[in-house]
Amino acid sequence: MIEALSARSLAWGRTENNIRALAGYAAARKAEIGRENVFDFSIGNPSVPPPPCVNEAFRALLEETDPVELHAYTPAPGLPSLRRAIARQLSEKSGTDFDWRQVYVTMGASAGLAAFCRAVLLPGEKAVAFAPFFMEYRVFAEAAGGALVTVPPREDMQPDLGALTSVLDEKVKLVILNSPNNPSGAVLTEESLRRISALLSDAERRYGHPVYLLADEPYRELLFDGRRPLCAADYYDDTVICYSYSKSLSLPGERLGYLAVSSRVRDREAVFDAIAGAARGCGYINAPSLIQRVVERCLDATADLDVYARNREALYGGLRELGFTCVYPDGAFYLFVKSPIPDAVAFSERAKRYELILVPSDDFGVPGYLRLAYCVPREMIDRSMGAFAALAREFGLKKE
Ligand code: PLP
Repeated sequence: MIEALSARSLAWGRTENNIRALAGYAAARKAEIGRENVFDFSIGNPSVPPPPCVNEAFRALLEETDPVELHAYTPAPGLPSLRRAIARQLSEKSGTDFDWRQVYVTMGASAGLAAFCRAVLLPGEKAVAFAPFFMEYRVFAEAAGGALVTVPPREDMQPDLGALTSVLDEKVKLVILNSPNNPSGAVLTEESLRRISALLSDAERRYGHPVYLLADEPYRELLFDGRRPLCAADYYDDTVICYSYSKSLSLPGERLGYLAVSSRVRDREAVFDAIAGAARGCGYINAPSLIQRVVERCLDATADLDVYARNREALYGGLRELGFTCVYPDGAFYLFVKSPIPDAVAFSERAKRYELILVPSDDFGVPGYLRLAYCVPREMIDRSMGAFAALAREFGLKKE
C-alpha cells in the first residue's frame, strides 16, 4: 500500500535530481546515435584519471596486507592512521589546529553533509545555503527535520550579504558555504568570508547558541590562476570542514571524504559525538576500508587538475565568441552560462535538439542559467562548438 510509505521518501526516490535525469538521457542518446555525437555537459564526473599513486596503493595493499585485515570493519569514524594524517594535513595547511579525534571519515561529502545536518538541526531549525547551491543540500536539511533557506547571489555570483543578514533568525543553526562553487565556479573572496564570519558571530551572540559554518569543499584544490584555498576555520571559530576525494583524486565512485571539527569549535568533543551519533542513526557503519587505506597513501597527491583550467579557457572563450554570456569561473569545473531566454528549462530542451546536454539552473536555486560541467575530454569541447554555434544562431545571439 503506497499510503503506508513515507510520502517524502517516496517523492525523493521518484524525482531524480535534474543532473542525474539529464545524465541518464545523455547515456540513452549515446547508445542510440553514438557517443561522439552527444555533447554531454551534464554531470560532474572527473574526466582525468586518478594519480598513479592510487593504482600503486591498491596493488601494494592487495599484495602486502592480510586480506582478513584489509577487508575488515574499521572503527566507525575511520582508520586512526588516516584520521591522524587528515588532521595533520589540515593543521599544516591552515592557521587552525585540527585534532584527529574530531575527524570523521565519511562516504563522500554527501554522507558528511547529511550527517552534519542531522547532528545539529532540531526539528524546525534551519540551514542556510548561498544560491546557487548543490541541490542535495535541501534533501539533507529536510531529511534531518530542518528546512533549507537560501540567500540569492549578486550578479557576479558572490553571496549577497545584505540578504544573509535578513535570513539569520534564531532558528538558523547552520550555514553551508561551498567554494569553489558548484554550479557557478565562483570562488568566495577573503572579504566575503570575513564579513560572513562577522555576521555569524553577531548571530551567535544575539541568539545565545552556536551557528555552525559548514565549509563544503570538494573542489578545494580546483583553483585557477594561482589562487590559494582559504580555510574558513581561520576566520570563524564554529567551523566544520566537509571534504571529498571525489574530485581532487578523481575517485567519485569510491565514496570517501570526511568531516573535521576545528579545535576552535566550542564543545568540539560533543559536536564530534553528535556527528558520530548521526552517522550511526543513518547506518553509516564505516567508510569502505580499502579506499581509506589507499587515500592515506595518496593524501598529498591530486589528479592532473590543470586539464580543467585548459578546458575552462576553451569553453569560456568559445561560448563568448558565439555571443553567450558566462560567469568566468575561478575554480571547480563548471561554467555558468546565462540562458538567452528567461526559461532555462525550455532552453535546455532546445539545446537537446543539437545534442547539447546542459543542466538548467532552477534546481540550484537561481533561475535563468545553464550549468556546463567541463570535466569532459577536450576534443568534445572542440567538437561541440558547431552545435553551440547553431544554437546561438537559433536564438539570434550576436558575436561580440
Ligand atoms: N558538495 C558539492 C558542492 C558537490 O558538488 C558534490 C558533488 O558533486 C558533493 C558535495 C558530493 O560529493 P561526494 O561525491 O563526495 O558525495
